[in-house]
Amino acid sequence: MTISIAIDGPAGAGKSTIARLLAKELNFTYLDSGAMYRAVTLKAIEDEFDLNDNTELTQLVKDLELDITYQNNVFRIYADGRDITDKLRSAAVDNNVSRVAQVKSVRDELVKKQREIASKQNIVMDGRDIGTRVLPDADFKFYITATVQERAQRRYKDILKSNGRDIDFKDVKKEIIQRDKIDSTRKYSPLKKAEDAVVVKSTDLTIKEVLKKVLNIIERS
Ligand code: C5P
Repeated sequence: MTISIAIDGPAGAGKSTIARLLAKELNFTYLDSGAMYRAVTLKAIEDEFDLNDNTELTQLVKDLELDITYQNNVFRIYADGRDITDKLRSAAVDNNVSRVAQVKSVRDELVKKQREIASKQNIVMDGRDIGTRVLPDADFKFYITATVQERAQRRYKDILKSNGRDIDFKDVKKEIIQRDKIDSTRKYSPLKKAEDAVVVKSTDLTIKEVLKKVLNIIERS
């Protein structure tokens, strides 16, 4: 029997930070499902696929070999043998990933992979549909949120820190709003709180406080 923890929520809510820390604390593996959608999007952009052509994207995701590793608390993702982990947070990927993630065949393929990985080990997985679709029987489900302003600020700081990309706060906020809109209104597995998920509002909390809250709930059961 393996244990699974699902963490969902809108963009920039701090899901992956919490999921990573939680995995480390519990000695579970970690899967960043968003990175998989980003990997497909990056590949589609690089290979000049038409992002509005679902047939092309279906072919791409079928042919793409995605490998994921999690070692010494570090998550890496490889596309056809190439480590693309550090290329997944570009503006081009940010602006197109939600479009690609709407496509049913893309989702079906990635969900299959996510479930396969989860079936083999204790896992913390973060995303948009983990509690509702990927792992509906997860042992613990959390839905982490924060106000749009706070989420945009966190994302803005992250971008500045990680790749020093020349960006405007207003654009980051706009991109987050746009992504949330597409993610929560799409036809297949939209972003939604699972009925049995615990909501954690993180606006006024530090990462440490959110982690403590989540750990308390897990340890209490
Ligand atoms: O988590 P992250 O912000 O990296 O996810 C990028 C995008 O991938 C999301 O905006 C969403 O469009 C898509 N996604 C998804 N389902 C998931 C994880 C991510 O549709 N489980």
